[in-house]
Amino acid sequence: MVRKYSNNSILPLIAIICLLYSFWIFPSNLIAQDIDILLKNGHVFDPKNEIDGILDVAITEGKIFRVAKDISGSQAKKVIDASGMYVCPGLIDIHTHVFVGSIPGKFADGSNSLSPDDFTLRAGITTVVDAGTSGWRNFPKFKEQVIDHSKTRILAFLNIVGSGMTGDDQQENITDMNVSQTIKCINEYPDIIVGVKIGHYTGNLWTPFDRASEAAKRTDRPMFVECHLPQYTLEDQLDRMRPGDIITHSYEKISERSSVIGENGLVLPLVFQAKEKGVLFDVGHGGAGFWFSEAIPALEQGLVPNSFGSDLHRFSMNSGMKDMLNIMSKYMAMGMEEKDILLRATWYPAKSIKREDLGNLGVGTVADVAVISVRNGYFGYVDAGKNKITGNKKFEAELTIRAGKILWDLNGISATPFELK
Ligand SMILES: [Zn+2]
Repeated sequence: MVRKYSNNSILPLIAIICLLYSFWIFPSNLIAQDIDILLKNGHVFDPKNEIDGILDVAITEGKIFRVAKDISGSQAKKVIDASGMYVCPGLIDIHTHVFVGSIPGKFADGSNSLSPDDFTLRAGITTVVDAGTSGWRNFPKFKEQVIDHSKTRILAFLNIVGSGMTGDDQQENITDMNVSQTIKCINEYPDIIVGVKIGHYTGNLWTPFDRASEAAKRTDRPMFVECHLPQYTLEDQLDRMRPGDIITHSYEKISERSSVIGENGLVLPLVFQAKEKGVLFDVGHGGAGFWFSEAIPALEQGLVPNSFGSDLHRFSMNSGMKDMLNIMSKYMAMGMEEKDILLRATWYPAKSIKREDLGNLGVGTVADVAVISVRNGYFGYVDAGKNKITGNKKFEAELTIRAGKILWDLNGISATPFELK
């Protein structure tokens, strides 16, 4: 028997079909109308989300809206051709000094630090971590003076020294290294302070190191060790570091700290033991922290940097370091694969500071994006000792987008072609 539907039973069915149809049609209109920026045909590299291929990235209202093939640009407000370029998360530099101020010759609130926007965006960097230029006493001033007014996202390792990097006796003042005040400051600014730094101390006591470690441990954050600690042996420092703690200036060769390479040219076993334990190795190039004589054998033997912290400050930027892209290009010249380098400039540093909301292009995340090209040519790369290697490739930041806004465009790929009327 064929069942006959009454009008009463058909009407709800039609209503449901209409509703489903409207939902099916409506989102495609919504997608087209809502796109603020559409990056077309770039090589999208987003290691967190295992995306690695030619795709489009749609950005709207400051967030990643969609990552897919062939997103229609018919109603997007701006369409940018990213063919032949990497489209990756905005780069993260976890070692900088950006507490710029008016005190001559000082890092904390001084002229030795740099204004981040002047140097980051042109290098594809959307997030920096200030490496302990401030401590619990002057962090509020740092926030008010620099962090709140910068387009670059500024995070911070808080120095265990209350007044941060003053460059004077204050840095040796153990009574100013206050664990409870440091923790209190971190808890007041939990979205900005990502760890605790120990960096400059010339005494024999382990109190500063232990206090930094305790404050980091009690706030579930990494300790960042900057190694201007001549009385501590490398072995003792690595021994006292916990898994997830970060050592910077990893490939330095100066009197302040012993090298990671032994006299026999091999990476010291104690260094590999620390790596096994979970200690993370940051480059921390700076003016004196990166030597090919250390970095090349380290790379060949498997001591690969987890991140490319630049140690950006007034002096390093005009030395062999230049910027983080130059460090990344050095590693390309040293033989590291392009994608391995981009991984260590985006997702790995985000994880190391426990900010997994950053360093990726997941739908709904903040639209911090770097469009990077690889130029071919003849390039020289210089270390802290003015030694040079050469390479035929170089990373260049074509476009930097921070929270959905284009803040750097090297060759005008987002601009309108000029026509004389
Ligand atoms: Zn530094």
